[in-house]
Amino acid sequence: MTQQNNCDVLIVGSGAAGLTLALHLAKNADVVILSKGPLNEGSTFYAQGGIAAVFDENDSISAHIEDTLIAGAGLCDEEAVKFTTENAKSCLEWLINQGVKFDKEQIDNGEKRYHLTREGGHSHRRILHSADATGQAIQTTLSEQVKKHSRIRVFERFNAIDLICQQNTSNEQTKKCIGAYIWNRNTEKVESIYAQKVILATGGASKVYQYTSNPDVASGDGIAMAWRAGCRVANMEFNQFHPTCLFHPSAGTFLLTEALRGEGAKLRRPDGSRFMPDFDERAELAPRDIVARAIDYEMKRLGADCMYLDISHKPSDFIKQHFPTIYEKTMSLGIDITQQPIPIVPAAHYTCGGIMVDTQGKTDINQLYAIGEMSYTGLHGANRLASNSLLECIVFARAAALEISATLDPDNRYLTLPHWDESRVTNSDEEVVIQHNWHELRLFMWDYVGIVRTTKRLERALHRVELLQREIDDYYQNFKVSNNLLELRNLVQVAELIIKCAMERKESRGLHYTLDYPDLLPKAEPTILKPEH
Ligand SMILES: Cc1cc2nc3c(=O)[nH]c(=O)nc-3n(C[C@H](O)[C@H](O)[C@H](O)COP(=O)(O)OP(=O)(O)OC[C@H]3O[C@@H](n4cnc5c(N)ncnc54)[C@H](O)[C@@H]3O)c2cc1C
Repeated sequence: MTQQNNCDVLIVGSGAAGLTLALHLAKNADVVILSKGPLNEGSTFYAQGGIAAVFDENDSISAHIEDTLIAGAGLCDEEAVKFTTENAKSCLEWLINQGVKFDKEQIDNGEKRYHLTREGGHSHRRILHSADATGQAIQTTLSEQVKKHSRIRVFERFNAIDLICQQNTSNEQTKKCIGAYIWNRNTEKVESIYAQKVILATGGASKVYQYTSNPDVASGDGIAMAWRAGCRVANMEFNQFHPTCLFHPSAGTFLLTEALRGEGAKLRRPDGSRFMPDFDERAELAPRDIVARAIDYEMKRLGADCMYLDISHKPSDFIKQHFPTIYEKTMSLGIDITQQPIPIVPAAHYTCGGIMVDTQGKTDINQLYAIGEMSYTGLHGANRLASNSLLECIVFARAAALEISATLDPDNRYLTLPHWDESRVTNSDEEVVIQHNWHELRLFMWDYVGIVRTTKRLERALHRVELLQREIDDYYQNFKVSNNLLELRNLVQVAELIIKCAMERKESRGLHYTLDYPDLLPKAEPTILKPEH
């Protein structure tokens, strides 16, 4: 017997997108939030820089739109960009009302106003921030608010496995989502959950790459689940890579801010020679994607595990004063950055594509919504403008909440869901297979589908993905689920979508760069994939 849970609204994911949605809905509905790990674990918690909105009187929404369109390299959906930027200020005011404390500065007349920073690609100061830990401030404030609501239940350490949909005829349009199978990690049992509306807010898929700045939960689960259920995806080829992530076996994921290069740090090969001047006249100060590409090129050319970032020529006190967190972190690993270069690799950072939605977060399946990094709204196009991603989470969560509140049926009855069939599975005695496939997948995605691509490498990667898919499906049919197995099954699905999108794009645009098609095509079109079933 599968234990069935019931609610009005099921939200899968407890980052900025999921929590915002829950708080907007809690007056009108019984909400369940699912989180795969602890409530606060997700990319939101680790966001550093801030969140963009027009607060300065010299700035304008049209300038924010223009900057977003330029970053997106001709591929943004203009309606989505307009919608997001126009709603930005009121959404940030909502965050402030929830208690998020953005930094303020004193102005001449003694009053205080929000301190706005400027980031690459923005023509004005428009980034609200809480020191260099904005995501943490947003995540912890919203989760505190969620805990106060009697109509929100939080299921921590539950993995959503698959969506449960109903289809009365063969017409896709009549398909509706009525819940999900969920794996209770605490009891190690599969349960089900019925909901009138299901919202996926599971974050990005950067864990498909060997090196990533994202936390472990970023395994593309929602994208894979929605695809398996029949939703279209778009623009999965656009993965943003951060150029400098610390390379150390026991460092976990740790970003090295671009401010280091801003303050004069040089990128060096293992033999100590500089290479950025060979790639761009701006050298280390070239834009993020150019620096990431140059590092990747040198690593592949030399067969090196990493390159080096060197700020040791600056006075020791300057380094300690400007970069205290980095100094402490690297010292704890035995690297004294005042004396020696820091080993670095580029790392997968942000998933620009995802499940296709409209401006209310609606997917191709009735009663199923997607919000946050896992969705494709059209905002980012071929490259994300810094600090627009947290904004997208808040704006689209609020829009989805309005739609959901207006269409919830107050007389709805809970349906009985089909049981999860475990009769033919046994406990795995071959965990090594999962471990091996995990490493293999992330390594070939890094080598063949990373920052610089070729058609041949993509074909190789697709061939390997197909083999892995067969092996993992077989494993999934025969053994009880585990977190690693569920994530691997989703990652291999997302990998296939990334490769297929990349193969469809016969040009280099934004974050997608291929040696076989180095130029831009005259017309910019999104890459859209539709499931065959
Ligand atoms: C290091 C770093 C710095 C960043 N800096 C910035 C910045 O300064 N400004 C900015 O705008 N953006 C920044 N970003 C990007 C931004 O943080 C993310 O795009 C955003 O937080 C995504 O929010 P989300 O709610 O969509 O997902 P997340 O915050 O990633 O939350 C995903 C949630 O889904 C849950 N989940 C996943 N799969 C399942 C499953 N199968 N079952 C149940 N639950 C599941 C997870 O447990 C988690 O609760 C940064 C990202 C990183 C990693």
